[in-house]
Amino acid sequence: MTAERSDGPILRWLRTRSDRVSRKLTEEQCTLLAQKPPEASIAPRPETSAVILHHSATPDGSVSLFRVLHRAVFGWDDVGYHFVIGNGSFSPDGAVEEGRPREATGAHARGFNEKSLGICLVGDFSDSMPTPCQVSSLADLLSELLRIYGLGAEAILLHREVPGCVTECPGALFTRKYLESDILPPVR
Ligand SMILES: [Zn+2]
Repeated sequence: MTAERSDGPILRWLRTRSDRVSRKLTEEQCTLLAQKPPEASIAPRPETSAVILHHSATPDGSVSLFRVLHRAVFGWDDVGYHFVIGNGSFSPDGAVEEGRPREATGAHARGFNEKSLGICLVGDFSDSMPTPCQVSSLADLLSELLRIYGLGAEAILLHREVPGCVTECPGALFTRKYLESDILPPVR
C-alpha cells in the first residue's frame, strides 16, 4: 500500500487504530475534528449514578486523538469519554484531559450512558499496568467526582462490570481488587 498523500501524525495514529479510516480524510480535517465541538450539539445527561472506568486498549493516545477516532471513524458527536488520563505518550503522564462536557451524555458503556460518567486511562491493561501518575490522578479525579455527585465508592464500575456489556475493558490486569487496594482511598 502506498500513501498517496503525506499523512500527518493524527492520520498515522488513526490508521494504526482502525482499518475503517476513509481514504479521503486529510490531516487538515483531522486537525479540525480534534477540536472540542460546540457543547450545544451534545445532549445533557439525565442522571449520574455511576462512574465507569475504561482503558484505551492502545499503547498510546490522548483525548484529541480519541476525539478524531470517535468522530471521523465512528461518526459520533464527540469523544465518547468525559475524561482521559494520559500516560506520557501524546499527553503528559497523569494529565487529566476533559472530553465530553461533564454534564453531557457520553458514549462509552452501552445502556449506561444516560446515567454515568466515563473515564478512560490511556494504555492496554491486558498486558501492562497504569503508570503511578495515572493512578494518582485517577484517585484524585474519582474522589472529586464522588464528592460532586454525592456518590459512594460502590458507584465506581469497571466497564466489564456494567450489566449487559460484553467486554474485557479495562483489561485483565485492571481488576476490582486492584481498584480497591491500589486506587480507592481507604474506607474511613
Ligand atoms: Zn471500556
